[in-house]
Amino acid sequence: MEKLTVRDIDLSEKKVLVRCDFNVPQDANLNITDDTRIRASLPTINYILSRKPKKLILISHLGRPDGKVIPKYSLKPIAQRLKELINQEVKMLNDCIGAAIQKEINQSQESVILLENLRFHPEEEQNEPNFSKSLATLADIFVNDAFGTAHRAHASTEGVTHYLTSVAGLLLEREISYLSQAMENPQKPFALILGGAKVSDKIGVILNLLPKADEILIGGGMSYTFLRAQGKQIGNSKLEKDKLDTAKAILEKARKQKVKIFLPVDNVITDTIDTISNSRTQELKNSRTHIKTVGENIPDGWIGVDIGPKTIKNYCAALKKAKTIIWNGPLGIFELDAFANGSKKVAGFISQLKVVTIIGGGDTAAAIAKFHLESKMTHISTGGGASLEFLEGKTLPGIAALADKK
Ligand code: AMP
Repeated sequence: MEKLTVRDIDLSEKKVLVRCDFNVPQDANLNITDDTRIRASLPTINYILSRKPKKLILISHLGRPDGKVIPKYSLKPIAQRLKELINQEVKMLNDCIGAAIQKEINQSQESVILLENLRFHPEEEQNEPNFSKSLATLADIFVNDAFGTAHRAHASTEGVTHYLTSVAGLLLEREISYLSQAMENPQKPFALILGGAKVSDKIGVILNLLPKADEILIGGGMSYTFLRAQGKQIGNSKLEKDKLDTAKAILEKARKQKVKIFLPVDNVITDTIDTISNSRTQELKNSRTHIKTVGENIPDGWIGVDIGPKTIKNYCAALKKAKTIIWNGPLGIFELDAFANGSKKVAGFISQLKVVTIIGGGDTAAAIAKFHLESKMTHISTGGGASLEFLEGKTLPGIAALADKK
């Protein structure tokens, strides 16, 4: 890793400001329903505490309060959970900048302090220099450990680095090293599994990894634009008409570069996606929904919602030979159990392989969690948008701004 990390600098007796990604899901009563992101920050928090800093000041955003103080987006529940996880008091302050906050930090008896939601201030997302400076005045050293927001140049990810020595946390380091190792120096054969809603979101990844990948397996909503580009009937499935030419060009480019692109040879289809939801799951109202499996052509009035059994078999056979697998985007509407089978079977299959398996964040990570396979993957990214941009080969501003090793 080319960037300095917390391990490279002296933290003792320093005030250390750490940008975490505590943007966790909560239910209607504000109970945290998944604390993965808080737990993912523990190695950095525990490491810094072991170096005896003067203060450990944690900052994060939660949800989208859009620059206003909205109590349901308060970080108070995170302070409580963090306290349980680190077995140490966490002092929660009611803002993140200003003289009063600075005073409270300096006078606090506690060494771990969590500041209130950064996005209660519009200046955070605007990357406003005075707001960045105010954050910087709170500490001696800045640590970015929020991979999930590293693709955004915000005051707490990029702006603050102009005013403080800025290094990577251990989670950020882990994300960068797994993703870059798999992309730049993959053990071959290297397979890329792509799915999710839209082709337009994944074009950058395909174009960046086409020269490196040996095979690309496509499923999910994005597969139907490719199938249409091949002249197949796709009924009422997701189609991005303006991306048909791009899909054709990608198929042609892959053929020339001898990269095998796999598309579904059969699909699970439905006549309607009529759901009932409760707080934890979504289910289909079966009384009004018809589901069947067809080949590549989907009749009018029907929607492709998952890959079929022959496709699952083909994809598992192709993946069997791979040594590195990167997966971004579910292969069907996995949120509904009836359409989760393709993602579930492929996830189950690769979880048995002794190969490097890298899971993009966001919905793909949610799918792996739904199938309880988290511990079976080499690395599950904590950032959906960030991992996508990393795989596209883009420079992430929150990483680029950190101090270089040399
Ligand atoms: P993305 O964020 O682009 O990875 O997309 C994830 C979303 O794609 C999930 O919410 C899935 O429900 C959705 N998805 C997967 N397969 C399909 C499909 N066949 N049609 C529509 N949406 C899909």
